[in-house]
Amino acid sequence: MKKYDDIVVGSGISGLTMALFLGMNGRRVLLLEKSPRIGGSLSVFYKNGIPFDTGFHFTGGLQKGGLLYDMLSVLGLYDLIQPVFLPEDNANSFFLESENRLYEIPYGFRKMREKLKNYFPPEAAAIDKYFDKVLKVCADTPSMDLRNLAVSQTHIDEDFMTLEEVLNGLTDNKVLKALLSGFAMCYGVKPQEITFANHSRICLGLYESVSRLAGGGNALIEAFKKRFQDHKIEVSCSSYIAEVADVYNKKAGRFVLNTGEEIECENCILTIHPKEILKLIPEDILSKAFISRVSSYEVSSGFFALFATLDPDCCDEEPDNSIVSIFPHTDINQMLDPEYKGASALVLIRTTEVVNGTRKKIINVLETSFSEHVAVWKDTRRGMRPQTYLDYKKERIKSIKERIFRAYPDYKEHLTVIDSASVLTFRDYLNSPDGSAYGIKQKVGQYNLIGKLPVRNMYAAGQSSLLPGIIGAMMSSFVVGRSIIKDEKYSSFMNRNLCK
Ligand SMILES: Cc1cc2nc3c(=O)[nH]c(=O)nc-3n(C[C@H](O)[C@H](O)[C@H](O)COP(=O)(O)OP(=O)(O)OC[C@H]3O[C@@H](n4cnc5c(N)ncnc54)[C@H](O)[C@@H]3O)c2cc1C
Repeated sequence: MKKYDDIVVGSGISGLTMALFLGMNGRRVLLLEKSPRIGGSLSVFYKNGIPFDTGFHFTGGLQKGGLLYDMLSVLGLYDLIQPVFLPEDNANSFFLESENRLYEIPYGFRKMREKLKNYFPPEAAAIDKYFDKVLKVCADTPSMDLRNLAVSQTHIDEDFMTLEEVLNGLTDNKVLKALLSGFAMCYGVKPQEITFANHSRICLGLYESVSRLAGGGNALIEAFKKRFQDHKIEVSCSSYIAEVADVYNKKAGRFVLNTGEEIECENCILTIHPKEILKLIPEDILSKAFISRVSSYEVSSGFFALFATLDPDCCDEEPDNSIVSIFPHTDINQMLDPEYKGASALVLIRTTEVVNGTRKKIINVLETSFSEHVAVWKDTRRGMRPQTYLDYKKERIKSIKERIFRAYPDYKEHLTVIDSASVLTFRDYLNSPDGSAYGIKQKVGQYNLIGKLPVRNMYAAGQSSLLPGIIGAMMSSFVVGRSIIKDEKYSSFMNRNLCK
């Protein structure tokens, strides 16, 4: 039987972070990934030689002192990647189809406030109160500081209020409310369900700065691989745990892999979907309450994605990197409702990459979607889906293109769709049970699965544990990693590596 200190299951950003964190703290780690390649949602895939992002298009927090900057620096990754900041004045634009109007929103708290006040002069006081509240939530949340991250979170009042409640208390202006809650597409939960606290924690980074990485998520995967070489971290792809065995005294003695290999370890950290975690733990040691809690988690939204290019001479006046959200109307709750049948939110992410010495203009388009939209094909697998599914995709591509051309008539002759992906595609590529973009729906009043599981040497981390997105997923690994290496070692690790 092979022996490790820790097994980490899943090699998305959560698993990569967990493995490196533990490795840097002197532990011998085995990282298991079900797919043939590591990276999960970070992966970039190539079609016709053109790179397309899977689940890491842009992020906040990469500015000096930002949470992502700190996490990457502590892990020795920051110097291995190259952030590309979006233009400050119009990083995030919102095109409202119902008004045929474009709202250009900058980043930076001061600039955002001013721009919104220019758009909505009578709402100046509401806008100030909103941003003050976001900042207060983040200041009152100890875990927004890497040194203070901990499994037991202190809850504040805003953890018990929804975003919608707070916005309704500030203004009646529907357009302003839609713009402020439009960032819900970055976590996939309705304004009437997300807590104001979590909305603020996720938005903080995006309000401070918006960036992507040169080379996309692959650059980060390569940086991790490089760092793994300095530590005792073994990676095993096409591998997963088939059985958690010898559970005595609520402690697992043996982990049997799909390859037949048997592993003994001190801890096993699962960075996969909570519903997959539930399947792994022997049922006889689980309480009914635990099973019912995990089974009741709902699904955050997913996307129908369109991967396209723009001709090189098209639209040169537009920034190389930009994000435009096209909303049909102002009802964000409706757009995030799986039962809703009308036009939904479209997010257009424009990037440029140099491919074989040539600049390529790339557009990733994400349209909110749910497993309900593809339920009839749920038992089919990729590459073997019926004509009806291909027709569904064709229809969806057609309607997305029509909406893009209404907002951007110049794209009409210049946009080429290279590929597309439905919620089912994401489900199958990412080995997630529901194909959602952000794991479970993180609702008000919900207790997520994080840290120690009912089997004492097994832990849950990942995007469904703390907060969704790249930052939230990484944070969950720091939190759980801390509880494994214990506070004293964590503090000295931070003292050694933070603000080097
Ligand atoms: C289309 C899309 C766009 C997105 N855009 C952004 C964005 O621009 N910015 C942002 O911050 N976030 C974005 N997100 C969300 C972000 O990608 C996720 O929050 C984050 O990457 C999740 O990381 P993770 O490691 O928790 O999970 P994942 O990246 O899903 O990794 C989980 C890994 O575990 C593996 N696995 C599953 N089951 C097993 C098993 N039993 N054994 C072994 N391995 C297993 C999977 O194959 C996968 O590699 C997007 C997501 C999607 C889908």
